[in-house]
Amino acid sequence: MNFSLRCHVCHAPFPATALYVCDKCMGPLEVHFDYDAVRRTISRERIEAGPRSIWRYRDLLPIEGEPRTGLHSGWTPLVRADRLAARLGVRELYVKDDSVNHPTCSYKDRVVSVAATRAVELGFTVFACASTGNLAGSVASHAARLGLDCSVFIPDNLEPGKVAGAAVYQPRIIAVRGNYDDVNRLCTQVADQYGWGFANINLRAYYAEGAKTFGYEIVEQLGWRVPRHIVSPVAGGTLLPRILKGINELRSLGLVDGDEPKMYAAQAAGCAPVVNALEQGLEFPDPVKPDTIAKSIAIGNPADGFQVVNAVRATGGAGAKVGEEEILAGIELLAETEGIFTEPAGGVTVAATKQLIERGVIPADESIVICVTGNGYKTADVLAGRGPVPIHIGRSLADFEAAVPGGQTVEQS
Ligand SMILES: *Cc1c(COP(=O)(O)O)cnc(C)c1O
Ligand SMILES: [Zn+2]
Repeated sequence: MNFSLRCHVCHAPFPATALYVCDKCMGPLEVHFDYDAVRRTISRERIEAGPRSIWRYRDLLPIEGEPRTGLHSGWTPLVRADRLAARLGVRELYVKDDSVNHPTCSYKDRVVSVAATRAVELGFTVFACASTGNLAGSVASHAARLGLDCSVFIPDNLEPGKVAGAAVYQPRIIAVRGNYDDVNRLCTQVADQYGWGFANINLRAYYAEGAKTFGYEIVEQLGWRVPRHIVSPVAGGTLLPRILKGINELRSLGLVDGDEPKMYAAQAAGCAPVVNALEQGLEFPDPVKPDTIAKSIAIGNPADGFQVVNAVRATGGAGAKVGEEEILAGIELLAETEGIFTEPAGGVTVAATKQLIERGVIPADESIVICVTGNGYKTADVLAGRGPVPIHIGRSLADFEAAVPGGQTVEQS
């Protein structure tokens, strides 16, 4: 086994079990690889010859045996976005599109695939999570495939599409009267009391490693090149620092040259603890009470918030928070220019990128990657009353010509 756990803060070592806090300093535990051992086997060729999924990076993922699930998760498109680039006034822009991640259409299938495989290896029979929506669907899906008993805990105000997206897999769904932070607090108690495997609590160290694959893929899909700027949404703070960790692993293993990218944190103004901390010069974000349509990233007290703050500061990046109307306009802008339908979290990221470019924080002539992490079909309701309405007509050509004189093109707003 080439990995163990280590305290993120005091670096105390721990065995690779379902531990998640350091008993010496209360810091979070993270996976630590024996990079010398990894260096002896890993190469670009070995990765390129691997499966078209997150498991092509298996040498840097914390499992002991064979992957058990997520055999088609990851390896999502990195889309060159020239029409969006033109609208934003920049030269080189890409969308890393996890709205089409298999099987549940969000970035969560990466982290859950690793956590679920590790849960089986550690002997858990109940797989669970505290979720803002997408995680519940992903955990329930992978649990179904693995035949694990499943319980998902959600806030009781989730979008119906997100609840349905979990319910179809027949998990136990526990809707807690409260927000995500209340759900998470309860789940920590349940994990300790009942010994269930919670993807993002006692299996969090393994879960977080799965997010590195988002960064690995960006680099590999750019032809083993590091982009200058990466804009990521932030909820609990897993993804953004792990994109950076993944890219820095590839750099230190000699698989890619170039400077580390600048990392930018995107949040909704209605839930922006990390962006506030960046603006106010705080090391640890002050908790907020979430109030935004971007529910999948509405976490007021992010577990890894300080890691996001560190990653953004260390790379010379910045934060951006955007209002509710900007979020909807961000969804529409991405759809109109690139044909990609994302959920509000993606709207936040697009709108934050637009703002960072307009503020001159991200320059127009350097490579930029926007992280799109979830699919719009789950939250289509947020667009009610927007966009063109169907023109209802009879079935003859005359009906058509009366309604659309001369076959006029669609009016652009
Ligand atoms: C979970 C999630 C994120 C990011 O969450 P982190 O906890 O910060 O990793 C981003 N977008 C969507 C759609 C999500 O579901
Ligand atoms: Zn410690």
